[in-house]
Amino acid sequence: MRDRRHAATSLLISCTLSRGDITGVGNARLNVYKLSRYRLFVNMNPETMLGERIRLARKKSGLSLRALAEAVDHKVSAQAIGKYENGKMMPGSEVLLALSKALGEPVDFFTSTSDAELLKVDFRKRSTTSVKEREQVEATVLDRVERYLEVERALELNGVAWNRPVAARPVMSLEHADLVADQVRKAWKLGTDPILDMTELLEEQGLKVFVIPLPDKVAGLTCQVTSSARQAPVLAIAVNESHNVERRRLTLAHELAHLIVEESADVDIEKVATRFAGAFLMPTDHLWERVGRQQRRFNRQELMELKRVYRVSAIALIVRLAQIGALDQSTLNYMLRSTAKTWRTQEPESIEDESAERARRFRRLCYRAVGEDRMSASRAAELLRMPLAELRQSL
Ligand SMILES: [Zn+2]
Repeated sequence: MRDRRHAATSLLISCTLSRGDITGVGNARLNVYKLSRYRLFVNMNPETMLGERIRLARKKSGLSLRALAEAVDHKVSAQAIGKYENGKMMPGSEVLLALSKALGEPVDFFTSTSDAELLKVDFRKRSTTSVKEREQVEATVLDRVERYLEVERALELNGVAWNRPVAARPVMSLEHADLVADQVRKAWKLGTDPILDMTELLEEQGLKVFVIPLPDKVAGLTCQVTSSARQAPVLAIAVNESHNVERRRLTLAHELAHLIVEESADVDIEKVATRFAGAFLMPTDHLWERVGRQQRRFNRQELMELKRVYRVSAIALIVRLAQIGALDQSTLNYMLRSTAKTWRTQEPESIEDESAERARRFRRLCYRAVGEDRMSASRAAELLRMPLAELRQSL
């Protein structure tokens, strides 16, 4: 039996999901909805705990009770699975094995005495995503946070604490977002150079980044996790793994804005976050220097080159050029109707770097925990969802 000291821990997660298009032009306004708070409690008896884990894995896979019963070849009925989930019945080992296989989780996942259990999900606003999709997202994030906290506990790391780089003040105008972006760069001593890896940067600053499957219309989300076992809340950003590198970088910067900027009645927070993202990735001074300090037209080749420098989408680039005044607004509008019309759905000359913007810290910590004998190789393999042989090979 694993140490149950953490069994009284509770986690509270509140999330903000943002919709797919974060370029901030035209109809791209983001209707964020808040997944208000869901609580994850423990203090449960083993039946309830096991049941909650079955529910979590099932939600994560997006299966209904009936679909899961089918996936285990009707070894058990949908009703029986429902009873397991509610802690009213315990599955036998054969059934548990079948569930584990069907849900793609190791058996240990179901029996582990985690300090996080999903108890309640309460949405403040409805959105275009379905309940099933939202539950799937929540369950996935929850699972990732749990695994991350487990390896940090093993290493006795409380993680790098996230410190707000600038004081919390509401942003009064879109232009003001540029200033905040500059202040954050200054606080993190980034200078004005392009940022090579946003994921690594944010993880260095104490945020947890997950690149996970999300519904296509969801670009990313931010979660706050408070746990009685930890002093500071855990802040996590999840981005859509099916989006290209350019988009993921913008999403990360956009979500970062949500963690920094306070809402104000004067201006749409989504537009502020998107403006911040552009300014953070393409700082005004650096961009002006690059384009020669003069308003003008840009040919395609030049734009593609600039896009590679800042590693942003072509749309985000031309919008930013217009924001700083390097590109005339009417030229921008014309481009969005003509040459750049397809860019929103099809990224021109995408960076396509598979190794780019991959969250690596969690993986690193797992390897380190094994190296320092603080975790067995088999447990690390389970956390990494990786075959043990593969882990051993790379040790
Ligand atoms: Zn947003």
